[in-house]
Amino acid sequence: MLLDIEEEVAYTRREIGKDALDKRVMAAMAIVPRDRFIPECDRHYAFANGPVPIGHGQTISQPYIVALMTDLLNPRPDSVILEIGTGSGYQAAVLAELVRHVYSIEIVDALAAAAGLRLQQLGYDNVTVRHADGYHGWPEHAPFDGVVVTAAAPHIPPALVEQLKPGARLVIPVGSPGGVQELTAVDKNADGALCVRSILTVAFVPLTRSPP
Ligand code: SAH
Repeated sequence: MLLDIEEEVAYTRREIGKDALDKRVMAAMAIVPRDRFIPECDRHYAFANGPVPIGHGQTISQPYIVALMTDLLNPRPDSVILEIGTGSGYQAAVLAELVRHVYSIEIVDALAAAAGLRLQQLGYDNVTVRHADGYHGWPEHAPFDGVVVTAAAPHIPPALVEQLKPGARLVIPVGSPGGVQELTAVDKNADGALCVRSILTVAFVPLTRSPP
């Protein structure tokens, strides 16, 4: 799996602007047991570089994309990160290997409950999972050192930008479901100004909204 990620990083180096991902990120990818986040019948796909269904019409993202999004967040040991779209909990676990705390929000109740339990069983006591619509972020724990959204949004949710610390980054796929989506980095500069950059064309499940 790690070799597949390295190959795809090399293949996309012009878009992503680097030849290799952070060594700490690759070490975290090596440690987290991806098979434990995948339904038993599909476990033989666990270490292939592709997405895998996790039920409720959702998927665990391709390892290369998880590694790239993690790298883009510049995770540091004292960082507090917000994730929107817990899904299986895999991305949260990768982040939990690298940062102080991960807050993760999942809109499908059953997925949030299963991921919370799985992360607890695997010993990730620095991840907090909540069942909610992540569009509004998690103001009680803001501001964050980074925010990552693992579902495609039609636009950048303003609350997620507000909840970034100055100097922090939001990583989010923006675009229509089934259409072209751009993995986007939104940097909040020290003076609060935003710098928005498209990185790569991607395909994510849609960010859904709970009824008002
Ligand atoms: N990060 C996940 C991949 C999840 S797929 C992993 O590592 O397994 C995207 C997830 O986003 C799905 O589980 C979906 O239910 C969730 N999602 C979609 N819209 C959401 C919203 N508004 N708030 C929170 N979660 C959402």
